[in-house]
Amino acid sequence: MRSWTTVDDDTKTKAGTVGNDLHTVHKLTTVYRDERPRLVAACPDGRNKGTATEWLRSVNCPACLAIPTD
Ligand SMILES: [Zn+2]
Repeated sequence: MRSWTTVDDDTKTKAGTVGNDLHTVHKLTTVYRDERPRLVAACPDGRNKGTATEWLRSVNCPACLAIPTD
């Protein structure tokens, strides 16, 4: 966990890990649940696996990379 890269190709896209999986970096999107903003993974695989944590790392989740974002 000593090496990470900054996300410099798309500063608007948040990236991060979900739950205990610190290897898969998903795109993160903000959703409102109970009127409070929460970060969740953009792909179905990354959801419901725990709390999303934002990182300054490059997205490496294939499912997330396949999702076009603005
Ligand atoms: Zn993902």
